Amino acid sequence: MSALIDPFGRRIDYLRLSVTDRCDLRCFYCMPEGFKDFEEPAHWLTVAEIERLLGVMADMGLARVRVTGGEPLVRRGVVDIVRSIRSLPGIRDLALSTNATRLAPMAKDLHAAGVNRLNVSLDTLDAERFKQVTQGKLEKVLAGLMAAKSVGFLPIKINMVVMRGMNEADVESVLAFCIEHGFVLRLIETMPMGDTGRDAVDHYVNLQTIKQRLAERYPLIPAINPVDGAGPARYLQVAGTATQIGFITPMSEHFCGTCNRVRLAVDGTMYMCLGQEHHFSFRPLLRKGIPDDELKAALISAIGLKPERHEFQDKPEKVIRFMSMTGG
Ligand code: SAM
Ligand code: SF4
Repeated sequence: MSALIDPFGRRIDYLRLSVTDRCDLRCFYCMPEGFKDFEEPAHWLTVAEIERLLGVMADMGLARVRVTGGEPLVRRGVVDIVRSIRSLPGIRDLALSTNATRLAPMAKDLHAAGVNRLNVSLDTLDAERFKQVTQGKLEKVLAGLMAAKSVGFLPIKINMVVMRGMNEADVESVLAFCIEHGFVLRLIETMPMGDTGRDAVDHYVNLQTIKQRLAERYPLIPAINPVDGAGPARYLQVAGTATQIGFITPMSEHFCGTCNRVRLAVDGTMYMCLGQEHHFSFRPLLRKGIPDDELKAALISAIGLKPERHEFQDKPEKVIRFMSMTGG
């Protein structure tokens, strides 16, 4: 088996798969307002194309997949996509990132189809502020979360982008909510993705300051059994509770040295780094029906393009893609 190893010796065993660039929310740090310039669905990979490419990657060592978007639950047939990925030999971890607005009626089917880990974006528990940040309704998200809890997803992680002057003071209330429900909290620094992300950087908060603030109020210890994740979060635990807090700090402390992932956009473009343009388009090859050995050779060339690190700090103007295109 030829494995997916990049020029810096990093083994790539994790794929973030964007199944749509559409979303029913408009988080100000992610989707531009009035953004309608979506790809035509004819350009989107079909379920069969996704299954074929991921099947070949699984043969080359891909073990973990996260389904994301845009909002993955707005893609028709997302449950079928999940089921087909789950059926691939070698895939041992299948996660989904969602804003949870449509989760309540879908939680049971997604769980049965094989999603074993769930990340839900929730930046505040204040309905007004939620509306200000996302233009959506908090109550739908909370209904989705409770449905997910009741069908037994474990773990459920709450993704909170911390923004100065917006929800910076809400960290403690979201943490209390996570402790109450046994959720993991992941705090995220804003990243300069597309124009919206660059606006969000005006609200940038260095999470090291939040860590200090929380440490003064809660007994924080290194996580006893850090939740199984393929990602870059570093976890602490609130002593005496099951709740862990992850800090995702691409800006203040980058973690490129241990990067194990690539991203596949809905149109079949594989992006080698969230913060760089290096990419490889698989759609034409899939539609030409090239044989597996050629697809494997193409994957090896693609991974050969992976850059050493992002340059968010030094060149924040560099990335023109919105998070929703690449798959956050
Ligand atoms: N719609 C789903 C959701 O909101 O969870 C999945 C896709 S969303 C792009 C994935 C994650 O990216 C979310 O947790 C979101 O908060 C985060 N995100 C989007 N734009 C960001 C930015 N500019 N900086 C930091 N995180 C961002
Ligand atoms: Fe949609 Fe997720 Fe982006 Fe918010 S962060 S606009 S929910 S894709």
